Amino acid sequence: MKNKFLEIRNSEIHNKGIFAKRNIPRGKRIIEYVGEKITKEEAEKRAEEQLEKNKKNKETGSVYIFELNNKWDIDGNFPWNPARLINHSCNPNCDIEIKKNHIWIISLRKIKKGEEISYNYGYDFDSYKEHPCKCGSENCVGYILAREQWKRLRKLKKDIKKK
Ligand SMILES: [Zn+2]
Repeated sequence: MKNKFLEIRNSEIHNKGIFAKRNIPRGKRIIEYVGEKITKEEAEKRAEEQLEKNKKNKETGSVYIFELNNKWDIDGNFPWNPARLINHSCNPNCDIEIKKNHIWIISLRKIKKGEEISYNYGYDFDSYKEHPCKCGSENCVGYILAREQWKRLRKLKKDIKKK
């Protein structure tokens, strides 16, 4: 992979991951998430196909579709998009920035050489149960879920305990 900041290595979170091969300052665009630009309709079709395939093979193959804007999505499930290997974390060191139809992974803080690169996948609440999280962070909520939804999840867990 050609990138001055990053390299591919085996990850403790999930399969392969992306790691810093040198120290990275805060606020850097470290890699672009590239792929095929597709319509929302096509994206939905591809996501469903992947979920069907997962069910059949009893796997948890990921869907690599990213929302670009209200018209287009990006399907990044291609070997030439190494950013697809970046794992989710509940305590991520990167974030997503979408500018002028480009999706960038940017560093949220200083990242040390050797650290695994991660961001919050930002999944919706309606499907969180299908995406358990094994990021190992101290603050891990147990699921791959957008940060804005954590309160809702905690409340739900509390309500379950009360019963
Ligand atoms: Zn987690």
